[in-house]
Amino acid sequence: IQRLRDGLSRSSSALGDGIISVFRKRKLDAETIEELEDLLIQADLGADTAMTITERLAEGRYDKEISEEEVRRVLAEEIEKVLAPVARPLDLDTGHKPHVVLLVGVNGTGKTTTIGKLAAKLNREGKKVMLAAGDTFRAAAVEQLRIWGERTGSTVVSRPIGADAAGLVFDAMKQAKDAACDVLLIDTAGRLQNRAELMAELEKVVRVIKKHDPEAPHTVLLTLDATTGQNAMSQVEIFGRTAGVTGLVMTKLDGTARGGILVAIAARHGLPVHFIGIGEGIDDLEPFTAKDFAGAIAG
Ligand code: GDP
Repeated sequence: IQRLRDGLSRSSSALGDGIISVFRKRKLDAETIEELEDLLIQADLGADTAMTITERLAEGRYDKEISEEEVRRVLAEEIEKVLAPVARPLDLDTGHKPHVVLLVGVNGTGKTTTIGKLAAKLNREGKKVMLAAGDTFRAAAVEQLRIWGERTGSTVVSRPIGADAAGLVFDAMKQAKDAACDVLLIDTAGRLQNRAELMAELEKVVRVIKKHDPEAPHTVLLTLDATTGQNAMSQVEIFGRTAGVTGLVMTKLDGTARGGILVAIAARHGLPVHFIGIGEGIDDLEPFTAKDFAGAIAG
């Protein structure tokens, strides 16, 4: 939580500092409300949410003196209200064997790392985990997954670079079933520069998974890099349409983060947020909690 706060406070210092300068005047009037609304929009919370929050703040407080602490407190409370419905733990004990988890997202957002962290967590819970190196385009991605497999004691299904990803995933489904694995974590490619091809490949991957199990993939996690800000919204829409995203993981909240976009995404899409990534290490995956996140954003 401290690291989340450190990361977010770096990102939201603009918001925090802004609040300080706006409320140096200490009165909540049309001008300060507009300035606060602008700050919230700059912090990626989205225009609708920014308006709702400032309206709630103004209720019963308009034209009155207000302390900076009170602004922050109300801000944190209102952000928490938006996030509370989407803060949902990931349930992998659904009786499916294996429970199939597909990781999707733009290259570099943290798919492979999140798989490694998840595998470690599941491993600690005594679950048998298999990893599928479905990003068959990048040697580095396959190698990285192999390393995570070694570190977490998970079998990694891979094929030479350039191989058909859907074929590999089909094999992985069979192997995971034969080996009675509890969870199969599937990595995918994320080359957004060739969107049509990428989406066709993802759709094909989903189709072959369904050949083995019509209900799978049971979970489709989209990784969002907190440092990308606004772009995360379009990533939710694109991957949502193609892969049927069931939940989100926001990564890199330990860095120069702009986590405010998660509030806008929650308000618009209501997709569950399961985890946050707070570092590159094996233990740097934390369950998402609305209160901590909202508090960190409000500064
Ligand atoms: P992929 O291309 O989506 O599979 O992304 P990777 O898992 O390869 O991650 C890209 C880079 O981001 C790597 O250098 C990771 O170590 C790093 N990374 C992933 N998650 C986090 C995180 O939560 N915090 C930080 N600081 N770095 C992360």
